[in-house]
Amino acid sequence: FPCFSAIEDFKEKIKPYSKNLETDGRPNVDLSGEEIASLAKDFDVLVGPAHAFTPYTAIYAYHSSLTDCYGDLTDYVSFVELGLSADSDYADKIQELHRLTFLTNSDCHSPHPVRLAREFNRFEVNDATFDEIKKAILRIGGNKPVLNVGLPPQEGKYNESACISCYTHYSLEEAIRRRWKCSCGKRIKKGVRDRVEERANFREPEHPDHRPPYLHLIPLAEIITKAVGQHTPFTKTVTRRWEELISAFENEITILIDADINDITRTTTPAIAEAIQAFREKKVCIIPGGGGKYGTIELPEEKVLTVSLGPQDHQTNLLDY
Ligand SMILES: [Zn+2]
Ligand SMILES: [Zn+2]
Repeated sequence: FPCFSAIEDFKEKIKPYSKNLETDGRPNVDLSGEEIASLAKDFDVLVGPAHAFTPYTAIYAYHSSLTDCYGDLTDYVSFVELGLSADSDYADKIQELHRLTFLTNSDCHSPHPVRLAREFNRFEVNDATFDEIKKAILRIGGNKPVLNVGLPPQEGKYNESACISCYTHYSLEEAIRRRWKCSCGKRIKKGVRDRVEERANFREPEHPDHRPPYLHLIPLAEIITKAVGQHTPFTKTVTRRWEELISAFENEITILIDADINDITRTTTPAIAEAIQAFREKKVCIIPGGGGKYGTIELPEEKVLTVSLGPQDHQTNLLDY
């Protein structure tokens, strides 16, 4: 949206089609994708699908293609917001997404630092204005996205297909064979990974030239949680250790990626410093999420290796972007 008054105007337009516009952060609007995109165009609003692959309310949960959703307005769609359970490698398996800019946005469902800004984008712009960011999303005048940052997709709540009640994970074949019914009797929700595989045009991701690198980050509080042997990041101990590091280094990115590990060691406990080092060396393992439950991380000595992630080799310094 170009400005807040445009948001108000847009809201007035769609009000007749929504019962929960004022009460829900993700309101239901009884309009087609094409109708919404057409209104967006009238208001000079950029439009694209958000958390595109999740099994609830996402474009690929209900549509087979962009055109199937946006009809004649498909060309006006300029971006796709990937959502927590997907990254550029997932989305670039789908050919129709190649021309779009990928956004990795955080929603502000919760103000806790473990949730807020866990995903973000870096753009090349002359100013932090709508026009400059719009140009970056449309990739014109030299403006462009230069980095997507997000959780490893396996950490997302709907990464693998899993039961929404007991969280048993299933392969796509097995879920189909069971007609999406878990042995406990409840429903199996199709995971983002499987939805992408179904829809994929390519076996391996094929990135277009304009696609920026994707940096996988695990929220610092989650790493601290594991290092101090607790079960949730919402405890006093974790918060105290998190604040101690933040007050020394100002932000999570510096701590996770850029700061000298010896400086970190001097600031925090040996276990936390080792855990941060393990993340940097891609030795933190992730047990994938599914069925509405987030994935969890394990530090190396716990030896529950499923997926090993961290910054990619060439991404040693965030300031390089
Ligand atoms: Zn959201
Ligand atoms: Zn179950």
